[in-house]
Amino acid sequence: METDGKTNGSNGAHDPAKLDALVVGAGVAGLYQLYRLREQGLRVRAIDAASSVGGTWYWNRYPGARFDSEAYIYQYLFSEELYKGWSWSEKFPGQPEIERWLNYVADRLDLRKDIQFSTTVRSAHFNEATQRWLVTTDKGDVIDTQFLVTCCGMLSAPHVSFPGQETFKGRLFHTARWPKQPIDFAGKRVGIIGNGATGIQVIQTIAGEVGHLKVFIRTPQYIIPMKNPKFSAADAQAYKSKFEHFKQRLPHTFTGFEYDFEHAWAGLSPEKRREVIEDCWNDGSLKLWIELVPQI
Ligand SMILES: Cc1cc2nc3c(=O)[nH]c(=O)nc-3n(C[C@H](O)[C@H](O)[C@H](O)COP(=O)(O)OP(=O)(O)OC[C@H]3O[C@@H](n4cnc5c(N)ncnc54)[C@H](O)[C@@H]3O)c2cc1C
Repeated sequence: METDGKTNGSNGAHDPAKLDALVVGAGVAGLYQLYRLREQGLRVRAIDAASSVGGTWYWNRYPGARFDSEAYIYQYLFSEELYKGWSWSEKFPGQPEIERWLNYVADRLDLRKDIQFSTTVRSAHFNEATQRWLVTTDKGDVIDTQFLVTCCGMLSAPHVSFPGQETFKGRLFHTARWPKQPIDFAGKRVGIIGNGATGIQVIQTIAGEVGHLKVFIRTPQYIIPMKNPKFSAADAQAYKSKFEHFKQRLPHTFTGFEYDFEHAWAGLSPEKRREVIEDCWNDGSLKLWIELVPQI
């Protein structure tokens, strides 16, 4: 498996001192936990196996990787300044822009100084007598901490092996461990295993470039065209002006999206139903999935 070979070095930040809290992971969740715990005056450190921040948006740098959440709702809403200090270039930005944004967050909140990168937590044992955790890493750290906050992600451990894959003579990649350097697919015979959200993004991005593409599909998916308008400065201003609205609404919708189960279908006329469905289709987003679920 070809991966980013630069992620295994140590950054040398091996402080054996006792901590109040250790955060595992420096993705969206870990960055926020580090910030919050530090704000409370705790001695806290975060550790991540990656060589920088971003979690999902650090590892998944495959061709076509992008949000399927609108950028202006996939946000930290605890700080208006942080929210308004970043302007998105489009409604569903790609991985490079999302990774840049999480680096902006880390810099703006000055988080990096308390993160130990390129380090994997290997074990964590709770000592009943001391009521503290003893944590070890692959770099030889032994950390004694009162609180252990795991922000390891629910999609961060790639499923890597197919029996016999080591005998494959060509180059082998996993989307969740994509190398940082670009891969030239021009004229190549390429096989893609899987056609979930990730597979679909890769397929449509490299199809025009490769010599021959074969997709191995176990379960066909239903997909709809995404509409991804570019954002002008005025567009960015418009969504930023809705900061308070998002802050109030998003924690209370079923999925955290702006839209929700909006309609009691039984009470709608056929014309109104058609109008709602057309509106969702034209939005080119997950609104089609969520807003069309009937309200109970
Ligand atoms: C391709 C892809 C696209 C997605 N798109 C969307 C989207 O559009 N909208 C949406 O809402 N969600 C999306 N998701 C879900 C996404 O995972 C979450 O939105 C979010 O990024 C999860 O953040 P997290 O901090 O919880 O975990 P992650 O971002 O997964 O971060 C976990 C971090 O923990 C580290 N880690 C794990 N174990 C250890 C260990 N033992 N030692 C050290 N470090 C460790 C990992 O290296 C990783 O950096 C997507 C997921 C994927 C994979």
